[in-house]
Amino acid sequence: MPETAHKKRILVVEDEKNIAMLLAYNLMQAGYAYDIAYDGEDGLKKALSGGYDLILLDLMLPKLDGFEVCRRIREKLSTPIIIATARVEEVDKVMGLDIGADDYVTKPFPMNELLARIKANIRRSSNEVVTAPTEAADRTISIRGLEIDPEKYQVTRDGTPLELTKKEYELLVFMAKNQGTVYSREQLLEEVWGYEGFYGDTSSVDVTVSRLRAKLEVDAGKPEYLFTKRGMGYYIK
Ligand code: CA
Repeated sequence: MPETAHKKRILVVEDEKNIAMLLAYNLMQAGYAYDIAYDGEDGLKKALSGGYDLILLDLMLPKLDGFEVCRRIREKLSTPIIIATARVEEVDKVMGLDIGADDYVTKPFPMNELLARIKANIRRSSNEVVTAPTEAADRTISIRGLEIDPEKYQVTRDGTPLELTKKEYELLVFMAKNQGTVYSREQLLEEVWGYEGFYGDTSSVDVTVSRLRAKLEVDAGKPEYLFTKRGMGYYIK
């Protein structure tokens, strides 16, 4: 079989040609196959034509912006999507809009960090297919009015369903299964995000924890479920 048959395929949606070229070069060096789309419309079209293992999506794009592209891809596909944002303020918007992105990087991104995230997201999405049946057998987790049903991917608090993103849900399930254990941001990046020995920017964890808390807790300032252990990390009890 030709070597390319085993290569993971990545779609880069990026309108700045020099950045796209830099990404393409580094992806190729790292052993990936890639396609490039230079605007949102073409990005969406290529993404939906399928076959990609991951999509790296810029936000500010001509024709159709990255928010809309992400949302429309998510209606059809569960392909991992990493959002590239130029401004840190956009991160909150990305997370807040629940457009279905799996991860984000802020520009200018260190290439090794980006490649680590690409690798982790691809590994996680291929693992999910394999582990889904065993996870489905898991029993409901109950913590004082909070019910997590892994079989239905459903979380309710006092009977009211909570609308969680995939990452918020995964973080909650992981910590709820290990109640009382304090996890550092780096450990959560490894366990929930799937990064191997990655000790770079851990703000994804804080952003996701704060979004999860806003949905989970009656008063996010006085958490009843998801606690911070100062200087150490987070735990659920
Ligand atoms: Ca752009």
